[in-house]
Amino acid sequence: MIKIEPIKAFSDNYIWLVTTNEGLLVVDPGDSEPVDAYLTINKKQLSNILITHHHFDHTGGVKKLVNNSSLDVYGPTASIFDGINKELKDGDQVNIIGIDFTIIEIPGHTLDHIAYFAENDGEPFLFCGDTLFAGGCGRIFEGTYLQMYESLNKLKKLPLNTKVYCGHEYTLANLTFALEVEHSNQALKDRYESCVNLRNNDQPTIPSLLELEIQTNPFLRSDQKIIRECIMQKFDYKEEPSDIEIFKAVREWKDNT
Ligand SMILES: [Zn+2]
Repeated sequence: MIKIEPIKAFSDNYIWLVTTNEGLLVVDPGDSEPVDAYLTINKKQLSNILITHHHFDHTGGVKKLVNNSSLDVYGPTASIFDGINKELKDGDQVNIIGIDFTIIEIPGHTLDHIAYFAENDGEPFLFCGDTLFAGGCGRIFEGTYLQMYESLNKLKKLPLNTKVYCGHEYTLANLTFALEVEHSNQALKDRYESCVNLRNNDQPTIPSLLELEIQTNPFLRSDQKIIRECIMQKFDYKEEPSDIEIFKAVREWKDNT
């Protein structure tokens, strides 16, 4: 049995806590304090740490949590974060607390960004940090638009019933923007309503389902006619743009909102 729970950190980060009968791990502990508080209250011990990318709000708590113990910290190879002792690259398979993770390199937001994909009794799940968000995608800080586009396309090919665990609660802002791009998408409107309800009750909107992302997330929909028409009209394209140009235009539009 695998249990996945969020620990809130900072204003909108989620540190994902994964428990199996073999141990307990956290994904992207940007802050040690909320993790320590959980461990103390529940009288548990941390077995491992997983890192998706080097940003401080995903790694800032690692050193305090390790605290001279022999705790393994898994993360991308060649990361500029120096707290990793188990380096992972694309295609690696690694068993951590009894879970078989497959590593997917997804550069764009940062160059070192990786995702962790696994299955729980036939239910696939993904930790994707700041690359694929619920209703959106991460800003492109280090990579190129093409890298981010290709990274998202890799994630898009995972099973449709994959549960997507991203690193931030940005969903409502993302869906508000998505509605500007695609206001006639009924699945998107329904999703927005249900996320408003969740947030009004202080509930996380995450995990989301990959299938719903493909139906409603404009950054996974550059190949859709309706998105293409919106972008061509808004930015006054004279010639048919490619899918990657559409993706870039949507990303730049979001950056400027
Ligand atoms: Zn980040």
